[in-house]
Amino acid sequence: MKRVVCAAIALASAASTPAGAQGALNLYCSVQVEWCQAIATNFQRDTGIRVSMTQRGSGENLAAIRAEAQNPRADVWFGGTGDPHLAAAEENLTQDYESPNSAQLQPWALTQWRQSNRRAVGVYAGAIGFGFNTELLGRKNIASPRCWADLVDPRFKGEVQLANPNSSGTSYVIIATLVQLMGEDQAFTYLRQLHPNVNAYARAGTGPIKAVARGETAVSLSFVHDAVVERNAGFPVDYATPCEGTGFEIGSMSILRGARNLAQARRFYDWALTADVQRLGYDVGRQLQTPSNRATPLPPNAPDLTRIKLIDYDFARYGRSAERRRLIERWDRDVGSLP
Ligand code: PLP
Repeated sequence: MKRVVCAAIALASAASTPAGAQGALNLYCSVQVEWCQAIATNFQRDTGIRVSMTQRGSGENLAAIRAEAQNPRADVWFGGTGDPHLAAAEENLTQDYESPNSAQLQPWALTQWRQSNRRAVGVYAGAIGFGFNTELLGRKNIASPRCWADLVDPRFKGEVQLANPNSSGTSYVIIATLVQLMGEDQAFTYLRQLHPNVNAYARAGTGPIKAVARGETAVSLSFVHDAVVERNAGFPVDYATPCEGTGFEIGSMSILRGARNLAQARRFYDWALTADVQRLGYDVGRQLQTPSNRATPLPPNAPDLTRIKLIDYDFARYGRSAERRRLIERWDRDVGSLP
């Protein structure tokens, strides 16, 4: 079995703490570390509130929040795929809040808010697709993948990387997408057929596209905005979205039930939904998700979701706690246990 290591990376914010009694905020963050650091540093600078930030994958943060439910260590959970935020809402691990800034948001961000009983709000969106190293594929004379059906072709033997759904929200979106496209049994047959082509199931959802950029694997299953991050950094990376259609995430934010610093948590939540702060994702973090504030422009060369063949992703169903747990357990049994 390809093992996943679920170690947390704890990072103290690098910003200097202004004197004063503005209090503190404990932030769990599930986007890329560059963006997590940018929001921690800027919130601290803007408000004088001392931020302690821990970055982990979506599944890992959900597991930590569950484990700490009787004595929550965090106040806010920023970012990460929407399904585990919905599961946390259903499990009563988060609390409802309506921000005065919610009127500025895209409809899909508010759909997430309503579906979670006002406990999770959308901060960004992104679509699943294939990232690939154009130099590596060219050297091996392998045509790049265009469709889900291509990926199980023997030409990709040992060339594909994706993440483990226990730790990664990205990987859970991929499984839920395949189930919605193919039906559940066929989706797991597909994932078993894909297994010989997979060289590793990474811990973090962004691990596979970083491996593509470094030339360690030819193809990744990733959010396609992350492929553009690597291309912008100068790596020979391109992406495609599956011809059969693909799934997407509503990256979310929630305030934890029992948050010790509730006033600071609400202040952060309101701040994070503003147009200027949503620009930090690209301007400082170099990330290319679709922002949820309608006044925040789509970053240059970011994938345009209106031009991608998206499925009508059933967030209510696949965000349900029991459904998420059941599908991940089935993946562990049917795929994760394969040699
Ligand atoms: N980083 C970025 C840039 C993302 O868009 C997402 C998805 O929300 C994640 C990280 C989530 O990572 P993981 O799949 O490890 O939960």
